[in-house]
Amino acid sequence: MKANHLIRFPMIHQFMMIFLSVFIPTSCQPGSSPNGQILETNKKNATHMINPGQNEDSLWWNKEARKMVNQQIVSRGIKDKRVISVLRNTPRHLFVPKSLIKAAYSDGPLLIGEGQTISQPYIVAIMTELLELKGDEKVLEIGTGSGYQAAILSQLVDTCYSIEILRTLADSASARLKRLGFNNVVVKCDDGYKGWIEHAPFDCIIITAAPEEIPQKLVEQLKMNGRMVVPVGKYYQDLLLITKTETGYTKEIIIPVRFVPMVKPA
Ligand code: SAH
Repeated sequence: MKANHLIRFPMIHQFMMIFLSVFIPTSCQPGSSPNGQILETNKKNATHMINPGQNEDSLWWNKEARKMVNQQIVSRGIKDKRVISVLRNTPRHLFVPKSLIKAAYSDGPLLIGEGQTISQPYIVAIMTELLELKGDEKVLEIGTGSGYQAAILSQLVDTCYSIEILRTLADSASARLKRLGFNNVVVKCDDGYKGWIEHAPFDCIIITAAPEEIPQKLVEQLKMNGRMVVPVGKYYQDLLLITKTETGYTKEIIIPVRFVPMVKPA
C-alpha cells in the first residue's frame, strides 16, 4: 500500500528531506538523568487551547495553518482526515523560537535550539499517517524536540510517551505541552534506545532522529502487529515502516529523508 502511496508522489516530493544540523550537544545524556526522571505525568485527553478566540493572532495562524495543510500536506497525497484536521488546528508557531514565529508554517524544518530542529510539516504528516492511528493507542515517540510531533499525536491517540535525550529540550517541551493543555503526553529525559519498558508494549513507536540501524530493543517494545516509523541511515537515510510480526518484523521503505542522528550515549 505504501509503495503505491509513494508512486503517487512526484519525484520532487520523494526527495523532500529534513535538513537538520548535525551538532548534537550532550548536556543531558542519561548520566545527568540517571533513571530517566519523568518531567510530567499527564492525564488522559488533550484539553489544549488551540483556538482561544478570534483575535488577530488566531486569525493569522488559522490562515497560515490552513494554507500549510492545503499546499504542503493535502496536495502531496496525505489522506487521513484526522491527521489533516489536527495539523490544521495545532498552533505550530507556539513550538518555535520567537524569532521564527513568522516562518512557523513554512515548508521546511526550523531550528529550535541546541542544534536541533522541528520537522518539516509534511514529514510530520506522513510519519503520523503511516501509524494509521484510530484513537485508543499507546504511542512512544523518541526525540521530543519542541514537542510539536507529540502535540499532534496527543490529539490522535490515548497516551503519548515521549523521550528526549537533551535536558533543556525535554524541560522546555514538557513545560510547553503542559501550558498548552496537551495533558496526555508524558515526557522524560533519557536515552531513547532503551525505550520505556514500564509502559511497553506500545501500539506504535515513532522515532524522530535517525539511528544507523533499526533499534532492536524498540522493536521488542512493540505490540504484535504494532507499527514503527523510523528514519534509518547515516548520511543517506530512508524513512521505514516496520510492522511487528510473529516471526520478527516486516520492513517497507517509504521515502528518502534527512534527520539528525539518534545519539548513542558513550
Ligand atoms: N519530534 C521533534 C523533532 C525532533 S529533532 C519535534 O516535533 O520538534 C530530534 C530530537 O531527537 C532532538 O531533540 C534530539 O535531541 C533527540 N534525540 C537524539 N538522539 C536521541 C536519543 N538517543 N534518545 C532520545 N532523543 C534523542
